[in-house]
Amino acid sequence: MEFDYDYFVIGAGSGGVRSSRIASQLGAKVAVAEEAFMGGTCVNVGCVPKKLLVYASHFMEDFHLAAGYGWNVDGVKLDWQKLINNKNKEIERLNGIYKGILERANVEVIAERAVVTGPNEVQCGDKKYTAKYILVATGARPTIPEFPGSEHVITSNEMFFLEEVPKRFLVVGGGYIGVEFAGIMNGLGAETTLSYRRDLFLRGFDISMREFIRDEMTRKGINLKFESNVESITKTDAGLEVKYKEGETEVYDQVLYATGRHPNVQGLGLETAGVDMAPNGAVLVDDKFKTSCPSIYAVGDVINRVQLTPVALAEGMFVAHDLFGEGFREVDYNLIPTAIFSQPEMATVGLTEGEAKEKFGEDIKVYFGSFRPMKLVLTDSEERTMVKMVVRVSTNEVLGVHMGGIYSGEIIQGMAVALKAGAKKEDFDRTIGIHPTSAEEFVTMRD
Ligand code: NDP
Repeated sequence: MEFDYDYFVIGAGSGGVRSSRIASQLGAKVAVAEEAFMGGTCVNVGCVPKKLLVYASHFMEDFHLAAGYGWNVDGVKLDWQKLINNKNKEIERLNGIYKGILERANVEVIAERAVVTGPNEVQCGDKKYTAKYILVATGARPTIPEFPGSEHVITSNEMFFLEEVPKRFLVVGGGYIGVEFAGIMNGLGAETTLSYRRDLFLRGFDISMREFIRDEMTRKGINLKFESNVESITKTDAGLEVKYKEGETEVYDQVLYATGRHPNVQGLGLETAGVDMAPNGAVLVDDKFKTSCPSIYAVGDVINRVQLTPVALAEGMFVAHDLFGEGFREVDYNLIPTAIFSQPEMATVGLTEGEAKEKFGEDIKVYFGSFRPMKLVLTDSEERTMVKMVVRVSTNEVLGVHMGGIYSGEIIQGMAVALKAGAKKEDFDRTIGIHPTSAEEFVTMRD
């Protein structure tokens, strides 16, 4: 049977763009449909603008630190509109780059919403296209739970386009987005509260790091409310009145819900092609990302395995090579490093102390360091840096490396390569440090 395309990709986000470009370079005839902006969540309302806002917000503290180094920084102030305009310009530039990458790779870009109408058929507006294979790379979207007054809250999507910095800001949720935006808004000068339903946020991360971030965020003046649950929100003249189940009522100017993201499958027509989905909408795929419909594949946040851009890139690349190339390395979900751009940031790779204990019992040893980073010694900042390494005693294998503090993300990326290569504690011990850095702590940790 003749098809219009070899490969029709739905969604030009991280996974979709990478997969369509590689497939085209491997000789396939490819189209990608995108109803919104090129680059998906990461480029438009995720990783990229978020990190720009983290930088922007950290200047407040940097100016303060600069004074310790002799700089006179009186009178600095933020022009929010200028920041947002500059951020928007950068994102537009990236949108153009993504489009250019696809065009140069001969991928046809269809600026429409695509709906699956059969195993090999997709509808975009009033046009129908056929394809040998379809890739669903539609990502995920923020989800707000139902409660009285939920219509008054916003999601991370809107955070990038606020008209002004709210005076009193509440974020609900203790995951990546909640912690990152609490830091951003606090840095930008908002009176910031984070509400989390359990006793300590960042569930799943190493306990020492969770406590470290809790202490540092508190030190920076963020009001952390644990065991805290919103019951209702009412809009009043004074602002958004938030009634907590625990009894108190507080008023804020903006409330962000960062309570997770769910697969973007609504109205996508996947049922018509017999694609199985989990109850939360996640598209179910096998180890080659094939769905229950043999001609339809899915990668990235929509399969809800690991919601991280570099993972979606790896998955998208795998499918393109698997379908149109010579075969390619499988996606290895082991030892995925990750960073939370809290302030200070935190990054990790490998097992937490808790996971290691569960797996190896008493056969583990934990190395630990906490110090004042050199950058801060001439300032009155009391921020610390924490490093932690979890080692299996019988094999000397490094199971996990965790860091909280300045440059953690940059440092842990390198550590991840070492762990991937099977580094043992003795490999760290015989590595010469770079002095003076925070990273050298990892090669000087001794019994
Ligand atoms: P997360 O899943 O990380 O966190 C969701 C948070 O909301 C958790 O603390 C969860 O609590 C809480 N929660 C969930 N449902 C409710 C509810 N009904 N009421 C109150 N609280 C609730 O999601 P995020 O939205 O923060 O981020 C989504 C994903 O995006 C992340 O998991 C991550 O993979 C990715 N991301 C990555 C970033 C990075 O790499 N730096 C940055 C931002 C996002 P509990 O712990 O009890 O489940």
